[in-house]
Amino acid sequence: MSPAFCRLCGTALRLARLSGDEQSRLHCPACGYIEYENPRVDVGCLALGFGTDPVLRTLSLRSGERVQDAALRSLGVAAGEDDISLYCALSDRSGGAVCLVFRVSQQVALPAHVAPVEAPAWQRALLARFSRDAAAGRFPVYTAELPAAGEGLLLREVSSS
Ligand SMILES: [Zn+2]
Repeated sequence: MSPAFCRLCGTALRLARLSGDEQSRLHCPACGYIEYENPRVDVGCLALGFGTDPVLRTLSLRSGERVQDAALRSLGVAAGEDDISLYCALSDRSGGAVCLVFRVSQQVALPAHVAPVEAPAWQRALLARFSRDAAAGRFPVYTAELPAAGEGLLLREVSSS
């Protein structure tokens, strides 16, 4: 059963679709707390865009959707599972949010409308690492904690390919 009041501040929760989310969720209008019934799983794809800057696009996993399909959906281009490889698995401290980032094979060309967007600091840090890995021609797999505001992204290399 869903709670009626905010676990943090006690304010009555409201059901609404929040920015960047695809489904309605109970949230607190006072403190911003969101009552997720499951861990939020975001999936993204890193790809080399037009010019030199790589692009990272993320979206939320839909109920019943495979992670690989979500990654391909985030790309918005025709690509197959063979074109993507896991690059980084991130989780926040509470385990309430998970983000799986795949990298896209360089054979897949992103269309012109896939332009870099203003990204949070941890995504910019991951993009910078991806650029260095691409220059070196070596793509390890990383794990990391989703950093709180003002914290840096600490990538831990767990394997290399
Ligand atoms: Zn609250």
